Amino acid sequence: MKIDIKFIIGASATYAILSAAFSMIGIFFVPERTLLPNPLTNGSLTVEEVVVHIIWGLVACAVTLRLRYFLLGGLFAVLVDSDHLVNLLNIEALSRMGHSMVFGIISVAVIMLVFGRKDLLLGATAFAALLSHMSYDIFVGDTNFPLFTPFYNLAIPFHRADWIFFEIAAVLIMIVATMIVRRQLKRSKIINT
Ligand SMILES: [Zn+2]
Repeated sequence: MKIDIKFIIGASATYAILSAAFSMIGIFFVPERTLLPNPLTNGSLTVEEVVVHIIWGLVACAVTLRLRYFLLGGLFAVLVDSDHLVNLLNIEALSRMGHSMVFGIISVAVIMLVFGRKDLLLGATAFAALLSHMSYDIFVGDTNFPLFTPFYNLAIPFHRADWIFFEIAAVLIMIVATMIVRRQLKRSKIINT
Protein backbone atom coordinates (compact mmCIF):
# COMPACT_ATOMS: atom_id res chain seq x y z
CA MET A 1 0.00 0.00 0.00
CA LYS A 2 1.37 3.40 -1.00
CA ILE A 3 1.21 6.21 1.54
CA ASP A 4 1.53 9.76 0.29
CA ILE A 5 3.91 10.98 3.02
CA LYS A 6 4.32 14.44 1.46
CA PHE A 7 0.57 14.98 1.40
CA ILE A 8 0.13 13.78 4.98
CA ILE A 9 2.98 15.91 6.36
CA GLY A 10 1.93 18.97 4.32
CA ALA A 11 -1.72 18.77 5.34
CA SER A 12 -0.83 18.12 9.01
CA ALA A 13 1.63 21.04 9.14
CA THR A 14 -0.96 23.33 7.54
CA TYR A 15 -3.59 22.24 10.07
CA ALA A 16 -1.19 22.90 12.98
CA ILE A 17 -0.18 26.32 11.63
CA LEU A 18 -3.84 27.20 11.11
CA SER A 19 -4.75 26.33 14.70
CA ALA A 20 -1.77 28.32 16.05
CA ALA A 21 -2.53 31.29 13.76
CA PHE A 22 -6.24 31.27 14.63
CA SER A 23 -5.40 31.30 18.34
CA MET A 24 -3.37 34.50 17.88
CA ILE A 25 -6.62 36.41 17.26
CA GLY A 26 -7.41 35.75 20.93
CA ILE A 27 -4.77 38.30 21.96
CA PHE A 28 -7.23 41.05 21.01
CA PHE A 29 -10.25 39.78 22.96
CA VAL A 30 -10.73 42.14 25.87
CA PRO A 31 -12.07 41.48 28.50
CA GLU A 32 -12.19 37.69 27.99
CA ARG A 33 -8.44 37.25 27.54
CA THR A 34 -6.39 36.01 30.50
CA LEU A 35 -2.73 35.28 31.18
CA LEU A 36 -2.32 31.78 29.75
CA PRO A 37 -0.41 29.11 31.66
CA ASN A 38 2.68 27.67 29.98
CA PRO A 39 1.70 24.13 28.85
CA LEU A 40 5.28 22.88 29.29
CA THR A 41 5.71 23.99 32.90
CA ASN A 42 2.24 23.27 34.28
CA GLY A 43 2.31 19.67 32.99
CA SER A 44 -0.89 19.92 30.98
CA LEU A 45 0.71 18.35 27.91
CA THR A 46 1.41 14.71 28.72
CA VAL A 47 2.51 11.84 26.49
CA GLU A 48 -0.68 9.99 27.39
CA GLU A 49 -2.78 12.95 26.26
CA VAL A 50 -0.96 13.11 22.92
CA VAL A 51 -1.27 9.36 22.30
CA VAL A 52 -4.95 9.10 23.22
CA HIS A 53 -5.86 12.18 21.18
CA ILE A 54 -4.29 10.41 18.18
CA ILE A 55 -6.18 7.17 18.92
CA TRP A 56 -9.50 9.04 19.26
CA GLY A 57 -8.89 10.63 15.83
CA LEU A 58 -7.82 7.33 14.26
CA VAL A 59 -11.02 5.68 15.52
CA ALA A 60 -13.20 8.40 13.97
CA CYS A 61 -11.49 8.10 10.56
CA ALA A 62 -11.13 4.30 10.49
CA VAL A 63 -14.55 4.04 8.82
CA THR A 64 -13.09 5.47 5.59
CA LEU A 65 -10.97 2.30 5.21
CA ARG A 66 -8.41 4.61 3.57
CA LEU A 67 -4.98 4.82 5.17
CA ARG A 68 -4.34 8.48 4.32
CA TYR A 69 -7.51 9.74 6.04
CA PHE A 70 -7.03 7.31 8.93
CA LEU A 71 -3.53 8.72 9.60
CA LEU A 72 -4.62 12.31 9.02
CA GLY A 73 -7.50 11.82 11.47
CA GLY A 74 -5.02 10.88 14.19
CA LEU A 75 -2.58 13.67 13.36
CA PHE A 76 -5.18 16.44 12.98
CA ALA A 77 -6.80 15.34 16.25
CA VAL A 78 -3.65 15.96 18.25
CA LEU A 79 -2.57 19.04 16.28
CA VAL A 80 -5.74 20.93 17.28
CA ASP A 81 -3.77 21.65 20.46
CA SER A 82 -1.34 23.81 18.46
CA ASP A 83 -3.59 26.60 19.75
CA HIS A 84 -1.66 26.18 23.03
CA LEU A 85 1.48 27.53 21.32
CA VAL A 86 0.24 31.05 22.01
CA ASN A 87 0.60 30.18 25.72
CA LEU A 88 4.38 30.05 25.27
CA LEU A 89 4.42 33.79 24.54
CA ASN A 90 3.54 34.53 28.17
CA ILE A 91 0.88 37.05 27.20
CA GLU A 92 -2.83 37.55 27.74
CA ALA A 93 -5.04 35.81 25.17
CA LEU A 94 -8.18 33.69 24.89
CA SER A 95 -7.55 30.09 25.92
CA ARG A 96 -8.19 27.18 23.50
CA MET A 97 -9.23 29.16 20.43
CA GLY A 98 -8.77 26.10 18.21
CA HIS A 99 -11.52 24.32 20.14
CA SER A 100 -14.10 26.33 18.20
CA MET A 101 -16.62 25.35 15.54
CA VAL A 102 -15.53 28.44 13.59
CA PHE A 103 -11.96 27.10 13.52
CA GLY A 104 -13.38 23.76 12.35
CA ILE A 105 -15.15 25.40 9.40
CA ILE A 106 -12.11 27.53 8.49
CA SER A 107 -9.82 24.49 8.66
CA VAL A 108 -12.08 22.52 6.30
CA ALA A 109 -12.11 25.41 3.81
CA VAL A 110 -8.34 26.05 3.90
CA ILE A 111 -7.26 22.39 3.89
CA MET A 112 -9.55 21.62 0.93
CA LEU A 113 -8.48 24.76 -0.96
CA VAL A 114 -4.80 23.91 -0.57
CA PHE A 115 -4.80 20.12 -0.75
CA GLY A 116 -7.83 19.12 -2.81
CA ARG A 117 -10.91 21.14 -3.68
CA LYS A 118 -12.89 17.99 -4.48
CA ASP A 119 -11.49 15.89 -1.64
CA LEU A 120 -14.62 15.65 0.50
CA LEU A 121 -13.02 13.05 2.79
CA LEU A 122 -10.15 15.42 3.55
CA GLY A 123 -12.54 18.21 4.59
CA ALA A 124 -14.59 15.75 6.65
CA THR A 125 -11.40 14.52 8.34
CA ALA A 126 -10.45 18.07 9.37
CA PHE A 127 -13.81 18.63 11.09
CA ALA A 128 -14.19 15.13 12.54
CA ALA A 129 -10.68 15.34 14.01
CA LEU A 130 -11.66 18.51 15.87
CA LEU A 131 -14.78 16.83 17.30
CA SER A 132 -12.81 13.74 18.33
CA HIS A 133 -10.20 15.99 19.96
CA MET A 134 -12.86 17.76 21.99
CA SER A 135 -14.37 14.38 22.85
CA TYR A 136 -11.19 13.27 24.62
CA ASP A 137 -10.73 16.68 26.28
CA ILE A 138 -14.23 16.34 27.75
CA PHE A 139 -13.55 12.71 28.68
CA VAL A 140 -10.62 13.77 30.88
CA GLY A 141 -12.54 16.66 32.44
CA ASP A 142 -11.44 19.59 30.24
CA THR A 143 -15.05 20.46 29.58
CA ASN A 144 -15.08 24.20 28.68
CA PHE A 145 -14.52 25.48 25.13
CA PRO A 146 -14.98 28.86 23.46
CA LEU A 147 -17.18 27.00 20.97
CA PHE A 148 -18.22 30.02 18.90
CA THR A 149 -15.15 32.24 19.15
CA PRO A 150 -14.39 34.76 17.57
CA PHE A 151 -18.12 35.62 17.48
CA TYR A 152 -18.88 34.71 21.10
CA ASN A 153 -15.84 34.42 23.32
CA LEU A 154 -17.15 32.97 26.57
CA ALA A 155 -16.43 29.29 27.19
CA ILE A 156 -19.36 26.88 26.80
CA PRO A 157 -19.40 24.19 29.52
CA PHE A 158 -20.18 20.53 28.77
CA HIS A 159 -20.92 17.56 31.01
CA ARG A 160 -18.22 14.91 31.20
CA ALA A 161 -20.65 12.32 29.82
CA ASP A 162 -21.00 14.39 26.63
CA TRP A 163 -17.67 13.05 25.28
CA ILE A 164 -19.49 10.19 23.60
CA PHE A 165 -21.69 12.54 21.54
CA PHE A 166 -18.65 14.36 20.15
CA GLU A 167 -16.99 11.09 19.13
CA ILE A 168 -20.23 9.72 17.65
CA ALA A 169 -20.67 12.96 15.66
CA ALA A 170 -17.09 12.60 14.35
CA VAL A 171 -17.70 8.99 13.27
CA LEU A 172 -21.04 9.93 11.65
CA ILE A 173 -19.42 12.74 9.63
CA MET A 174 -16.84 10.26 8.33
CA ILE A 175 -19.50 7.62 7.53
CA VAL A 176 -21.61 10.12 5.56
CA ALA A 177 -18.59 11.51 3.68
CA THR A 178 -17.37 7.97 2.86
CA MET A 179 -20.83 7.00 1.55
CA ILE A 180 -21.03 10.12 -0.65
CA VAL A 181 -17.55 9.52 -2.09
CA ARG A 182 -18.31 5.84 -2.78
CA ARG A 183 -21.55 6.74 -4.54
CA GLN A 184 -19.74 9.32 -6.68
CA LEU A 185 -17.09 6.73 -7.58
CA LYS A 186 -19.73 4.17 -8.54
CA ARG A 187 -21.54 6.71 -10.70
CA SER A 188 -18.38 7.77 -12.51
CA LYS A 189 -17.53 4.12 -13.15
CA ILE A 190 -20.99 3.52 -14.67
CA ILE A 191 -20.62 6.62 -16.88
CA ASN A 192 -17.16 5.55 -18.04
CA THR A 193 -18.13 1.97 -18.92
ZN1 LIG B 1 -7.52 20.26 23.60
